[in-house]
Amino acid sequence: MIHDIAPHTYDNQYAPHTPRDEDIVLAYRKGEILCNYEDDVLSFPTLLQLGASADTLTYLFTIDQTRYFLAGVEVDPFAGFAYRPVSLARTAMPRVASFAAITGHQLSVWYRDSRFCGRCGTPTVHDGVERMMRCPNCGSMIFPRISPAVIVGVLNGDRILMTRYANRPGAKRSALIAGFAEIGESIEQTVRREVMEEVGLRVKNLRYYKSQPWSFTGCLLMGFWCEVDGDDTIHVDGRELAEGVWLTREEIDWDDIGLSLTGEMTQRFRDGLARVEE
Ligand SMILES: [Zn+2]
Repeated sequence: MIHDIAPHTYDNQYAPHTPRDEDIVLAYRKGEILCNYEDDVLSFPTLLQLGASADTLTYLFTIDQTRYFLAGVEVDPFAGFAYRPVSLARTAMPRVASFAAITGHQLSVWYRDSRFCGRCGTPTVHDGVERMMRCPNCGSMIFPRISPAVIVGVLNGDRILMTRYANRPGAKRSALIAGFAEIGESIEQTVRREVMEEVGLRVKNLRYYKSQPWSFTGCLLMGFWCEVDGDDTIHVDGRELAEGVWLTREEIDWDDIGLSLTGEMTQRFRDGLARVEE
């Protein structure tokens, strides 16, 4: 998946590092990232190339020995580097650069949206110790926001429940049931509620599979397997405008490019590795 970057190691411990010339600077603008992108290969400017003032940069994370900083002011494109949609990280290589691009993007969105205290409106300041923005007036502490969400593989004999968005152009591709956790519910309750809301089915035997940070949308995805409980008649919720279908392994048309938890779970089902629990 997109966050599986081994043998590279991602270190997200916050520390107020002083930028060095060889450090990478990630600059974002309206969903785009400043990068060099040729022949599907993605790279980013160093501080030396960019020539930005070090005191406008915010430390993000380290991958292996390489530190990544966030540009705090808008940077103009320059020789070899242009703004490209962050979504190109879905297909760009190497995987470690794609991971850096989307992870930096999630952090940049959080920093952008945390410049003022939501409680009293005062401009916030960086905390020196943790990755946190602090209000110097009322003391409010703002931590990075991550939204928990579920991906659900509902099994029924030798079939799996897939959904398709009926009203989106080119929306032939199938997906698993997915949705955000709501305040006040456990993640297991999220699974049950989302399946009920989207296709009107009860489920049982919930089994946690795996999680994935999905920085495109600021989520932490949690994958579950479960089985339909009782009546397997699908009642599609018109609000989500999706159609739900039971598909066998042979009926799934899905080109997994190794990116997403949905893709991995779908592939496991196709490979016969996800089965109904007796
Ligand atoms: Zn405040």
